[in-house]
Amino acid sequence: MKISIVGGGIAGCATAYYLAHDGHDVTLFERDSLASHASGFALGGINPVITGSRQAPYEVLSNYSIGLHKDLSTQLAVGSSRCKDLNFLRKASLMLVREEAEAVAMRRVYESYADDNSIDVRWLSSGELSHIEARISSEVIGGLYIGEAYEVDPYKLTLSLWQAAERHGAQMVIREVTGIAVSGGRVSGVLTDSQMHKADAVVVAAGPWSSRLLSDLGVVVPVSPLKGQILRLEAPDPAMKISLWWDEDYATNKSDGLMWIGTTEEEVGFDDRTTDVARDQIVGSAVEMLPYLEDAELVQQTACLRPMTPDRMPILDNVSGPEGLVIATGGGRQGIALGPAMGIATAALATDSEPPVDVSAFSLARFS
Ligand SMILES: Cc1cc2nc3c(=O)[nH]c(=O)nc-3n(C[C@H](O)[C@H](O)[C@H](O)COP(=O)(O)OP(=O)(O)OC[C@H]3O[C@@H](n4cnc5c(N)ncnc54)[C@H](O)[C@@H]3O)c2cc1C
Repeated sequence: MKISIVGGGIAGCATAYYLAHDGHDVTLFERDSLASHASGFALGGINPVITGSRQAPYEVLSNYSIGLHKDLSTQLAVGSSRCKDLNFLRKASLMLVREEAEAVAMRRVYESYADDNSIDVRWLSSGELSHIEARISSEVIGGLYIGEAYEVDPYKLTLSLWQAAERHGAQMVIREVTGIAVSGGRVSGVLTDSQMHKADAVVVAAGPWSSRLLSDLGVVVPVSPLKGQILRLEAPDPAMKISLWWDEDYATNKSDGLMWIGTTEEEVGFDDRTTDVARDQIVGSAVEMLPYLEDAELVQQTACLRPMTPDRMPILDNVSGPEGLVIATGGGRQGIALGPAMGIATAALATDSEPPVDVSAFSLARFS
């Protein structure tokens, strides 16, 4: 099948990889350059979604995706010249709490997994925490430890997915897609400038820009940009061996040797510039949790836009709009973690096959 993909972030590149691997004729359209938005500037934390139920569709999708990440970390290294090392590594996560009410809720989550040997989730008291990382603030009363968590370089991962797709014959067009052509109730291709590129199916994986493109077809997609900023710091040694998360924030030592701290959730449209207000807010929050960061030096500040839906879950859909149209967006704060599962499922939806993981809960119909 001839398939056009709009968007060179992780959702589009993962879809391209799985489609090209299966022998389909893939063309990916990217307006700027690959991974030049959220997929290139995310933290790259791969934390399992913890809902309290192993059967919840979102949790199933997340766990399936983590399995694919593990496979990709070896598969993508083969034959790649520039991106041999995705910096994929296992790194436990600690969700820190300061309020008793939050601790009660976290403990309840922990208890719901206590009998499940397949997931390493534990509740740690502040005393136990200090054995893991002694520099955590004494205001922290405990934390949820998640052993099955990972980290990756999201830029290298996205690029490597594309390079592997390219080795299987996928082609890239650096152009903005201005419209999707429809004929007789089916998509027939995409439009760039005034050129038509024919296709049997069109995947829209254009991040927070997806809704603009789809509204011309009368398909309403509730995905909007949610800005997030990250600071990269030169922090005092030794590097932390785990990643720390609290409220909407985090701190972790990345494989570039820097400590990355974040973040913000800003509803400011498509403005993706960094701000001093966000810098001060992120530093203030991190120093409260890790007072030793008072002595850290700012090296870089970045900002980018998450594609966010009202229920914070992705949209994977091939039933809304004309036949042959597939929507893959809304990764939200989990878009890197979910990227491989979104890609493999989208590839199946585009070719009318059964996705290897049930994604029926992620169709657009849930918003109607
Ligand atoms: C600060 C921050 C930290 C994050 N940290 C994490 C994390 O630790 N773990 C995690 O799992 N997720 C994280 N995320 C979320 C993750 O980055 C996103 O969910 C994910 O990258 C979205 O990928 P995407 O491919 O859907 O969109 P994008 O990466 O935005 O890619 C969409 C692409 O489509 C292109 N495009 C748009 N319109 C058109 C058009 N008309 N024609 C051609 N091309 C077009 C754009 O140029 C863009 O390159 C973070 C996000 C932010 C902002």
